[in-house]
Amino acid sequence: MKTKIIFLGPPGSGKGTQAQMVSKDLGLNHISPGEIFRRIIKENNPAEIAEKIKFYVQSGLLVPDEIVFEAIKLVLDKKNFLLDGFPRNLNQAKLLEEFLDGELLDVVIYFNISDEEIIKRLSSRRSCPKCGRIYNILTLRPKKENLCDDCEVELIIREDDKIETIKKRIEVYKKETASLIDYYKKILIDVDATESIESLTNKIKSIILS
Ligand SMILES: [Zn+2]
Repeated sequence: MKTKIIFLGPPGSGKGTQAQMVSKDLGLNHISPGEIFRRIIKENNPAEIAEKIKFYVQSGLLVPDEIVFEAIKLVLDKKNFLLDGFPRNLNQAKLLEEFLDGELLDVVIYFNISDEEIIKRLSSRRSCPKCGRIYNILTLRPKKENLCDDCEVELIIREDDKIETIKKRIEVYKKETASLIDYYKKILIDVDATESIESLTNKIKSIILS
């Protein structure tokens, strides 16, 4: 079984959802920078890293690669990981490689999806401004039209999910990851991110188990 895995894919490709399911089913350590950041900030531990992350997030700046990796190293087991959302550029890939100290990655799974499909998926997202719960008017509708199931508050479209912002996010993503696709080409396996969630989970599991 493969145990040193990277999921690579644009926002909206569903790789986070797949990473959660696959890691749970196969006993892999799912590592997502976003989740680690939230936990570090919430627990204020380690306080030094929490301070740094808060500074960048509150200033609306990208957290620098070195700080992202400091946070990831806190939980990274060199022999068992499913990385989701890291590395996102060549510099991060090199930090990871140094840290792994000769341990080779087993596979990079690339979530293939067209720009049109990403735009369709992300622009269908709605969020509750009160509790932050995410809905999708195509796939995950609230019980009452445009109202949060929990709070009964009118749902909104977050800035991140507006079409102009989505297009910018796709551009940034492409610029950053084009070099990664080339860097990992020998161990990269493409999957079709538009397949149903269940069939994609099965496909990915069979790649990892083979
Ligand atoms: Zn709510």
